[in-house]
Amino acid sequence: MSSYIINIAYLIASVLFILGLKGLAHPRTAVRGNLTGAVGMLIAVVVTLWHRQIISYELIIAGAVVGSLIGATLAIKIQMTAMPQLVALFNGFGGGASVLVAGAALVESSGMIAASMTQTTIATVASGIIGTVTFWGSLVAFGKLQDIMPSGAILIPGRHFLNALIGAVAIVLGVLIVMNPEATTMYWILVAVSSVLGVLLVIPIGGADMPVVIALLNSYSGLAAAATGFVLSNNVLIIAGSLVGASGLILTNIMCKAMNRSLTNVLFGVLGPSDEATTADEIYGGKVKSTSADEVAMLFDTAKRVTIVPGYGMAVSQAQHAVRDLTNLLESRGIEVDFAIHPVAGRMPGHMNVLLAEANIPYDKLKEMDEVNSTIEQSDVALVIGANDVVNPVARTDPKSPIAGMPIIDVDKARTVVVIKRSLSPGFAGIPNPLFAADNTLMFFADGKKAFIELVEAVKES
Ligand code: NDP
Repeated sequence: MSSYIINIAYLIASVLFILGLKGLAHPRTAVRGNLTGAVGMLIAVVVTLWHRQIISYELIIAGAVVGSLIGATLAIKIQMTAMPQLVALFNGFGGGASVLVAGAALVESSGMIAASMTQTTIATVASGIIGTVTFWGSLVAFGKLQDIMPSGAILIPGRHFLNALIGAVAIVLGVLIVMNPEATTMYWILVAVSSVLGVLLVIPIGGADMPVVIALLNSYSGLAAAATGFVLSNNVLIIAGSLVGASGLILTNIMCKAMNRSLTNVLFGVLGPSDEATTADEIYGGKVKSTSADEVAMLFDTAKRVTIVPGYGMAVSQAQHAVRDLTNLLESRGIEVDFAIHPVAGRMPGHMNVLLAEANIPYDKLKEMDEVNSTIEQSDVALVIGANDVVNPVARTDPKSPIAGMPIIDVDKARTVVVIKRSLSPGFAGIPNPLFAADNTLMFFADGKKAFIELVEAVKES
């Protein structure tokens, strides 16, 4: 196949990747976007295989079958709440693949690399370092989220110095490889040193911060793939890797902003309640009012607009189908129902959107935070299910709070707030929430799904 046709095919694949990414930006077009990207990847893979006719197709097919079986089984069996660790594994394997491909290219070309091919060797070294850090960092992230290892921050004394030292050793090794590309053993030593760096960079980060780190590691896996693209002189790999690198970085930035934290703080800081934080007893003491399904059903009798605010607890209790049933029932009684979606509600980007889409809740009912906040005063009932930090008013009022400045959904401004959760336990940020003790708040202590099933029954009977 002429290089002209190959590059045209790669260009088409790259355009499909970009269109795919654009589609993924909205829930309505996300499935189509996913398919578009997959078709782009299919074109890229087929053209690459066709182009490099020397390879053994038997091994490629065997690898594809084994990989597809593992991927499909994981994707079917995985619980929605375990999605972040699955993504971590995928990122890690991407990084690992880049390291092996770049290493294989170095070994294969050993002795033939001329001084003019410095660019290729630099790309090999970059792929080796970034890909290995991604692989081990992602495995640690997986281990923490899957509770295979302690999920909290593991703080080694002098870790910043140690990391800087290991990083410097990796760079020195990289320079030695660039100067002498025939020393292929050095590449595997570089991989071993970078492995230690990958582990040490991620173990000090608390498990709950992992989704942000996973977005960053996703970006790294793209950079490693792009570097490998330079090693192989493969344009589509360079473009696809750069797209993953850039989109991972943008996502990391969006998540940090929505949590009002800097990336440095996520990577090097530890999130926890501050010493000066007001205690739960001071906030809740004698002020919390509990309610029941029947009482909430009575509130609906006079309500014109109900805003449902989902959070992590909806994912844990898998309440989305019961939420849809109540939504349909309320709408059949002429009540306007909308959903307030906070960008970091749950434990991964788009967590609530995915769950609500699974329950066939129409996308136009899903309102972004700013849109909802501008009209929340007109909501008769704000029905909060398993959300805590994303509706905590201390973000607005207490500059010392760990979530100070984080944009929140202002449910406290609705006429009545009903919070469904099992207890007064804190959420991810580990701090009490004055919303639960507010005058206009009623606490419905129950599992999210059970509460919504009871609400459906109570509304039907009212
Ligand atoms: P939170 O973690 O603040 O609170 C979740 C609440 O859900 C808990 O207080 C818990 O209370 C309740 N809950 C747990 N299980 C159930 C259940 N079965 N039924 C009902 N309620 C339940 O969640 P939010 O969604 O409000 O906020 C997300 C937090 O996660 C933010 O702080 C965000 O910064 C952080 N984060 C989000 C990421 C993302 O990408 N979305 C990534 C990283 C962090 P109880 O035990 O009393 O039931």
